[in-house]
Amino acid sequence: MINLLDLDKEQLKGLMGGQSYRGSQIFGWVFGRGVRDIGEMTNLSKQLRQELSEKAVISYPELVRTEVSSDGTEKLAYRLHDGHIIESVLMPGKGQHYSLCISSQVGCAMGCAFCFTATMGFKRNLSVSEIVSQVLSPLNAYPDRQIRNIVFMGMGEPLLNYDNVIKTVRILTDKEGPQFSKRRITISTCGILPKLATLSKDTEAALAVSLNAPSSGIREKIMPVNSKYPLEELLAALKAYQLPNRRRITLEYVLIKGVNDRIRDARELIRILHGLKVKVNLIPFNPWPGCHLRAPDPEAVLAFEEVLRNSPFAVMLRKEKGKDILAACGQLAGHVVNARQEAL
Ligand code: SF4
Repeated sequence: MINLLDLDKEQLKGLMGGQSYRGSQIFGWVFGRGVRDIGEMTNLSKQLRQELSEKAVISYPELVRTEVSSDGTEKLAYRLHDGHIIESVLMPGKGQHYSLCISSQVGCAMGCAFCFTATMGFKRNLSVSEIVSQVLSPLNAYPDRQIRNIVFMGMGEPLLNYDNVIKTVRILTDKEGPQFSKRRITISTCGILPKLATLSKDTEAALAVSLNAPSSGIREKIMPVNSKYPLEELLAALKAYQLPNRRRITLEYVLIKGVNDRIRDARELIRILHGLKVKVNLIPFNPWPGCHLRAPDPEAVLAFEEVLRNSPFAVMLRKEKGKDILAACGQLAGHVVNARQEAL
């Protein structure tokens, strides 16, 4: 059986024998209105609905757990058809505005030392339906909440599930779908250079890069990806990245005690970022059980931030969200929810 949540508009049109009008109608029902039953598509004839039901379903992963933090952050856990569990985090911002952090893989192969997901290893990529349903589920369950920002910062490296992530963004930004603004969807990567080279051509979603170090020597200690795609090459790729006017790349920098949180690291960071259109998001490390890395001292965080404030780069210090339910950065049962807050 085909899951309609896996198909974009073009594929739905194909499913309907090339009739783009029908493809658009079904797209609107599935992604715009979030119906879960083909029988509810009332502008299709009964016969058409019957024929469609014989070859397709609308199948969502099961929501198996919701945990709510004292600050209003919600961690949503879904069971996939093969039993794997993935998590998303819904974070309240100003008023009724929310940001949603979603996963793109089960586990992750990248092995970042500060990331809990890395301890799971890589299991598999998520399908389009498994990614898009993480957005549609809360969107339809909480109609009073305005989910404005989507961040691919849950479990997994989005650029290693490139095609499905790009297709999901296309669906989420479609005028007959959930109509998210491209600027309000952020794809976060640890720096998969071959994919970064094509990303700006394939999507206008915002880009965030998990940088975390002012030198290759430090980065290599905490991010194995650096040995394949070194910091110097990553910075060159960011310089070449095609950005729409007035847009910036967000650089995530997880501050880890004694590793990358010294004043000289901040100064070196400013030096290496020269000429780049970036803003820096500082994230004090959240230790998780069994991790040898430590949280930075609050004074060190403030001092690091202060150095960056006196640089040409905008800097944001991440507020902790969902710490009491292990939904803060680096604590998702599967990963680093490097959930960005700059848009909150
Ligand atoms: S930080 Fe991101 S890329 Fe690194 S291991 Fe965790 S999920 Fe993977």
